[in-house]
Amino acid sequence: MDFLAHILLEKTPQTLQGQCHSFHWQWLGEGLLSFTPNTSYKKSVVFSAGIHGNETAPIELLVQICQDIFAGLLPLNVRLLLVLGNPRAIRQGVRYIENDMNRMFYGKHLQYENLAETQRAQELEVVVKQFFEHTDVSISRYHYDLHTAIRRSLFQTFALLPYQKKIYDQILIESLAAAEIEALVYHREVGSTFTSFTSAICDAASVTLELGAAKPLGQNDLTQFTDIDSILRLLLSAGALPSRKKSPVHIFKVKSTIIKRDDDFRLNLSADAPNFSSFQQGELIASQRSGNDIAEKNQIRILFPNIHVKNGLRAGLILEEVERK
Ligand SMILES: [Zn+2]
Repeated sequence: MDFLAHILLEKTPQTLQGQCHSFHWQWLGEGLLSFTPNTSYKKSVVFSAGIHGNETAPIELLVQICQDIFAGLLPLNVRLLLVLGNPRAIRQGVRYIENDMNRMFYGKHLQYENLAETQRAQELEVVVKQFFEHTDVSISRYHYDLHTAIRRSLFQTFALLPYQKKIYDQILIESLAAAEIEALVYHREVGSTFTSFTSAICDAASVTLELGAAKPLGQNDLTQFTDIDSILRLLLSAGALPSRKKSPVHIFKVKSTIIKRDDDFRLNLSADAPNFSSFQQGELIASQRSGNDIAEKNQIRILFPNIHVKNGLRAGLILEEVERK
């Protein structure tokens, strides 16, 4: 099964399900492939990539994992759904075509025109929900949504955890530490990302991973992704997680959201400033006619700064470091 080739060539495989090694596989739609082990399992896992079509390294990681499962090189001891999120954007090598899909989940698609990406976000919600509902609640549910960031980052790899009322899953957090993720960011409000949906609606332990910079397909140095790749594979084979080698993970919480309200909106940052750039107490962060954002403390950080958003939308997240473990 060449998962990516079927997307790039816009082809449906001739066979849509089958038995292979010790699992059953099923093609559930374009970019949607499920695997069920013949023996009992304790976890249902979703790995997704390509929600943003030009974030190619994670797509290549999942494609390689898929090939190794079919080749019998990677033992599968969990139920697995692989998702390549936005096939049209992957084919065109762009982040999205009409609208950013990772703003459309958890009911937010209703706020968008009913275009192909809106429909795809709804399709992903339905397929993922059915995948998780297939197993009873004694089977733990996990969702790792893999991305690469648009801009440089002071922390090369970081993870965003959706806001949730339930306690964050310890195995999920341990897997991120073992994957040598440099920073964890906890959201404090319900979001519209794929992982917000799976956390809230599917009761999964969910995380959005940002794994370095976006490059065209085939031009990625996948050796940069060895740590996360080996942990994803261990999750599938149900192997023991290794201990962390790097210094402890930096932990941040989202303190506030910078909203662009006026046309004269400016960020007090150079255009190529990296994610996690810091501000000291009293420094101007953003200015606009209706009021300025000022750093209330030292070492306030900014994530995903973007002045090119429509008025009323998020132009950045303000983070505060809370602890190091
Ligand atoms: Zn992305």
